[in-house]
Amino acid sequence: MLEKTLGSLIRDKGREGRRGYTLPGFDVEKTDLEKVLPQKSIRKEKPGLPEVDEPAVIRHYTNLSRKNWGIDTNFYPLGSCTMKHNPRANEAAAAVPGFSGLHPLQPEKEARGALRVMYELQGFLSEISGLPAVSLQPMAGAQGELTSILMVKKYFEDAGDEGRTTVLVPATAHGTNPATASMADFKSVEVGLDEHGCVDVDELREKVDETTAALMITNPNTCGVYERNIAEIAEVLHENGAFLYMDGANMNANLGRMRPADAAVDIMHFNLHKTFSTPHGGGGPGCGAIACSAALAPFRPDPTVEKDGDAFHLVRPAKSIGRMSTFHGNFGVILKAWNYIKMHGPELRDVTEMAVLNANYVRARLKGVYRVPYEGPCKHEVVVQPPKGMKALDIAKGLIDHGYHPPTIYFPLVVKEAMLIEPTETESKETLDDFVGAMLELAESATEDLEEAPIHAPTRRLDETRAARQLKARW
Ligand SMILES: *Cc1c(COP(=O)(O)O)cnc(C)c1O
Repeated sequence: MLEKTLGSLIRDKGREGRRGYTLPGFDVEKTDLEKVLPQKSIRKEKPGLPEVDEPAVIRHYTNLSRKNWGIDTNFYPLGSCTMKHNPRANEAAAAVPGFSGLHPLQPEKEARGALRVMYELQGFLSEISGLPAVSLQPMAGAQGELTSILMVKKYFEDAGDEGRTTVLVPATAHGTNPATASMADFKSVEVGLDEHGCVDVDELREKVDETTAALMITNPNTCGVYERNIAEIAEVLHENGAFLYMDGANMNANLGRMRPADAAVDIMHFNLHKTFSTPHGGGGPGCGAIACSAALAPFRPDPTVEKDGDAFHLVRPAKSIGRMSTFHGNFGVILKAWNYIKMHGPELRDVTEMAVLNANYVRARLKGVYRVPYEGPCKHEVVVQPPKGMKALDIAKGLIDHGYHPPTIYFPLVVKEAMLIEPTETESKETLDDFVGAMLELAESATEDLEEAPIHAPTRRLDETRAARQLKARW
């Protein structure tokens, strides 16, 4: 479709010499240009750009945008991604000229408001996690993971403990966890699950040894299950001198209810764009802020914001791993998270309560028709399996025809035909009822019919293997 529309913009709408712009006249002589530019950089032929007028361009992009799927157009229960409504007040805050017009090199005294926002957000995240030190540098959850594991690595280097070469990763982990471990030059070792979908503590005991640097745990995990043995898990690691790292992508299930520090977590990342509402997906923007214990604090990236009397300063922590991003991270996302947390205040815990209630409502209504692999209430997301003989992929494609973004499918890897549904707290009971209605209807459909889906989307079913192997990044 993209090929068709963009192609048609050139072929059908384009006319030679038609213009949708005016540019100032060209004031450089061609001969001068040849003196300053290398020969190979000078274009010999006109670029084949669409020659179209302004209405054609506007219609083209508006129609393309209408084919896009977003939380502002439809329900988006994509498990583990926390696609909640993004309050417009956040956008208004991020657009305030005093913030949006700041230059990253502006002197500290001219950027006091921005530094104060960063300082206060560090404090909020510290309070939410119970951990004393924070860094806002990382620009994504995955980068927050890498930052944390690099800090752990540097801690052991600093302590002269050279044998810490492995990082343990549960079988439910997001793919970024083992990727992080290997990027930081650790060997990742998988830990299996018990019958509740939680880390198998006996297996953990067998695998932890003097080479273990950390365990990367997600809590609640990607099955939507709270790691009930978290205290014991922390003990096993700490007895062996290793750290407990928490992937905080699922903090929507914990706000005001569970402070990672109380579960003896040493270091964690937040996904500010998920939990604290920045429009995300498609690669950005994000912030993977980290929080850590006092022991790890000196290793935080450079800079953090510190307060001295009335003044705020950018400070390099004593044994910093260095910079993880240019300047001060993704400031717009930092500002939105600050605004979101200020708007909620202590009621932030309601976010978690509603998110968990919504997931359990969906779970209860689907149970019986869909299979629910793990007993007991779930947290903010629920993993289900289609009725026997049906495929998660077919149900997902069928949902598109009903006007829903499909849930995450085939993840977590430990559940066959997994469908990971995360409704979030911002959806009404009516929306959930309609969605459940569609899910139940699809479960009754003939598989041959579902194999055709989606019928009403701009593109029919894609050959996903070919798309991944022979990616065409342009039309
Ligand atoms: C989203 C997610 C990540 C990665 O976060 P990004 O911000 O996309 O880099 C890591 N772990 C889990 C469990 C996630 O859901």
